[in-house]
Amino acid sequence: MSRLLIVGPQGSGKGTQGVEIAKLLNIPAVSTGDVFRANIGGETELGLKIKSIVAAGNLVDDALTGEVVRDRLAQADAAEGFLLDGYPRNLVQVADLDAFLTERGEKLDLVVELGVPREESLKRLVTRAAEQGRTDDTEDGIKRRLEIYEEQTTPILDVYRERGIVATVDGVGTIDEVLGRIRAELVSRGLLAA
Ligand code: AMP
Repeated sequence: MSRLLIVGPQGSGKGTQGVEIAKLLNIPAVSTGDVFRANIGGETELGLKIKSIVAAGNLVDDALTGEVVRDRLAQADAAEGFLLDGYPRNLVQVADLDAFLTERGEKLDLVVELGVPREESLKRLVTRAAEQGRTDDTEDGIKRRLEIYEEQTTPILDVYRERGIVATVDGVGTIDEVLGRIRAELVSRGLLAA
């Protein structure tokens, strides 16, 4: 079983591809964004606390986010593998995840980096905002999230690149085209049978 991350700017299709990869590998897809949105929608204590932060496109507190991830990965279905979507998102979270995995005697097998040019992700985000009306898809929120991705999230890729576990995949194309590229990477790294 495998432990993976999918990393890409908002609007890169990482949520969609993450779910598909998880199906291929028979592991749960864990999206911190989905967990946060569910809590906001359900007006839970956590949801009320983070609502304005998420709406502004800012990052939720690292400790709080780490707790959410630890709780989720402690569930039985993640014992043998998982795909994380949207976590870690900065260097502090990388260190937190490393500590957590080390405690479990585990390590990451692969980080899939979905590469999409800024104009393309902006275009997709604006379309999604119109179609789905996501609370965090306001114009300012979108800009802020792309800014945070460039400033805080891309440095995490350097750390993983040094470990030799990053597969960069071109994220421009249809869902099936992009998934085909990811599948080829999984096969070439021995994570999926050809
Ligand atoms: P996403 O669906 O991954 O784009 O996440 C939506 C929003 O949830 C982000 O803009 C953040 O406000 C929050 N969020 C998701 N993942 C994290 C994380 N790892 N750390 C902090 N905030 C996060």
